[in-house]
Formats: sequence, C-alpha cells, structure tokens
Amino acid sequence: EITINASSGSYKAAVGENIFEEELANYLSQKQADKLFVLIDENVFRHHWKTIQPILSELVTNVHFLQVPEGESSKSVRFWSKTLDFLLNAGIRRNVPLVVIGGGVTGDLGGFTAATALRGIPLIHVPTTVLAMVDSSIGGKTGVNHATGKNLIGSFYQPDRVIADTRFLESLPKTEWINGLSEILKYAAIRDEAIFSEAEIFMEPDLQSMNKKKLIHLIAKCIKIKADIVEEDEFEGGIRAFLNYGHTFAHALEKACDFDTISHGEAVYLGMLAAQELSNLTGADLQTTKLSAYRSLYNFRISKEELSYNQLNEYMKADKKRTDEHIKFVLLNNWQEPEVKTVKDKTLINQAWDAASNEL
Ligand code: NAD
Ligand code: ZN
Repeated sequence: EITINASSGSYKAAVGENIFEEELANYLSQKQADKLFVLIDENVFRHHWKTIQPILSELVTNVHFLQVPEGESSKSVRFWSKTLDFLLNAGIRRNVPLVVIGGGVTGDLGGFTAATALRGIPLIHVPTTVLAMVDSSIGGKTGVNHATGKNLIGSFYQPDRVIADTRFLESLPKTEWINGLSEILKYAAIRDEAIFSEAEIFMEPDLQSMNKKKLIHLIAKCIKIKADIVEEDEFEGGIRAFLNYGHTFAHALEKACDFDTISHGEAVYLGMLAAQELSNLTGADLQTTKLSAYRSLYNFRISKEELSYNQLNEYMKADKKRTDEHIKFVLLNNWQEPEVKTVKDKTLINQAWDAASNEL
C-alpha cells in the first residue's frame, strides 16, 4: 500500500492479487453510500463482470453501471457528456462514489467525469492494464481529447483510492502488457536501476504465468516512483516533466502514424531509444544494452521508410508541452539522472531518430 500526498488531501493505492473486494469494502465502510456508480471498460466487463457484479451487490443495494467502448475515441467530449447523463439522470448525489474500472482511457474519462459532476464526486480507480496501474491511475491527471489534439480538455482531480488488483490482468492481451512495460522501463531509466532487471519477468513467454509476487512488487515500486514525483510537483512545473522521458519523440511518432500503426508503448520504447542517443550525443555515456535487451518483446508494424525526420520534427514542435521555439527533451546525464534540455542542433535530433529507426 502506497500513500500519495496531494494538495487536495492524500489517498492510498493498494496493489495485490484478489484485493478488490476487501479494499472496496474497506473504503465503503467509511462512507454512507448504499449506491455505487460504475464506469467499466467493455472488455473488462466481458471478462470480469461475473466476478465484479456479485462483489458489488454484496456491498451496496444499488449498482448503476455504464460500459465504455474500447479505444481512444471514448475519450471524447461526446462520451464524457454521455457519462454525465448516466450519473445525473440516475440522480447522483455528492457522496456517491464513481468506481472506474478499466485502462487509461476509461480512467481518464471517468476521472474527468468525477471531477466535473456536481463539481466533484468521490472517485475510485480500479486500473486493469499494466499502464493504468503504474501510470495513469496515479497523479490526478484526467481528461478527454479534442479534435486538435490529445488530452486538451481536462483537470487535475485526485481519486479517493486506487485499487490495483492483478487478477484483472489475466485477460490482458500481450500487446497491452508490453505497452505497460515501456512505462516501467521509463521508471528504470529516470529513477531506479534495479527495475531494468526486475522487468525481466516480462520476458516470460506466457505472461499470464509470470511470478505474481515479483509483478506486484514491481508495480508497487513504479507507483511509488510516480507518487514521489507527482507529490513533489503536482501541477507539472518542474520534475514531473521527467515522466515524459522518451515521450517528446513518442508523441511525434504517434502523430506521424496517425495513432494507428503504432501503440503508445511502442512509441515510448522507440522514443526512449532516441532520447538515449540524443543524451549520448550531448555529453552522456549511457550503456545502451539496458533498453535494447527488451527489443525482442516488441513487434513493430512500421518501417524505417514510413518515418521521415522532417515530418517528425514538425510534429515535435507542435507538442503542447513546448513553451518556446526550441524543442525541449528530457535527457539523461547518466542513467537515473534526468534533466530537461533544449536541443537546437537539428542534425543531432536527426541522428537520434536514426538510432531509433535502426531498431525497426
Ligand atoms: P486502454 O484503456 O485503451 O486499454 C487498452 C486495451 O485493453 C483496450 O482495448 C481495453 O478494452 C483493454 N483492456 C483493459 N483492461 C483489460 C483487461 N483487464 N483485460 C482485457 N482487456 C483489457 O489503454 P491504456 O494503455 O490502459 O491507457 C491509455 C490511455 O491512458 C491513453 O488515453 C493515455 O492518454 C492515458 N494516459 C493517461 C495518463 C494520466 O496521467 N492520466 C498517463 C498515461 C496515459
Ligand atoms: Zn506514456
């Protein structure tokens, strides 16, 4: 169990196998709710509702639920509005919790809905992807997408509790495990060397049979790192930017591929390779085998030819986190020593892209 301190109060994140019922019961015992609202990813619903439903009806008299269609397109103003209809039409009150069960898409949408309904209702995150457990459910960023870009509408809103129950990962497709792995490797790069070897559990051919104890330990470690960073910099004025390691490159790749032929995790992996190269080109001496050891777990669907620097560099310039004309990168002076740096020399950036595309 990890405590996350935010300006609006502190909350706990619990990680373990089969902890959902106990954690939720424990939370509800402190509330006077006889009603619950549930926002649940459609795939999680299909695989786990038969487990979840009896647990909920044991705890409260009334359970209202709404399924969220899979995919980024559910993170829309339209679906946010639909989710508000679902809550308000059923007469939600300020003290009735919204339990959000799913990956980052459901989490970001549900978080923003909880933030905005009645100016804020209690929110419980039940992340069901590796990425959501180690990243999106922690830190309070919520929101939906706009036609002009991702995550452009949203707010900071902290949950009352995060319940990361690894039993839900049983049904997670391999590609989604690997998406989560990229963020885990990111924590290794910016904060904790030991994670580079602890992540070897992902090399198991059958991920469902990986050592659960080690997995839980690893997830908890990553949550702690994210918690520490966001605690220090809740509204992203400083070190929270380190969590964007590899992401300046990744976001450009995702845009260049129209968010279609590359997943976020794949883009982050390649982005970290590019960032590592750029770090080395600007004075560091990073040993490159730490990341490349995981190369074989990724099945890239894009080819070198599909990526041209000119276009990629344009997309990097358009990144919303950019505050001036030059592109800022999170680079490493050494492993676990990140620093935000401005790089003006295009040829270096192009060389960094080369290093990433050589891995394709
Ligand atoms: P996702 O929510 O789209 O889930 C990925 C896929 O897995 C979906 O098809 C989903 O239906 C399915 N799925 C989820 N749980 C499952 C389970 N247990 N079994 C079977 N299938 C399951 O993707 P994600 O990678 O979890 O999240 C990505 C989103 O998170 C992006 O929108 C990104 O912007 C956001 N994000 C937010 C933050 C933040 O701080 N708020 C941080 C990182 C990412
Ligand atoms: Zn990411």
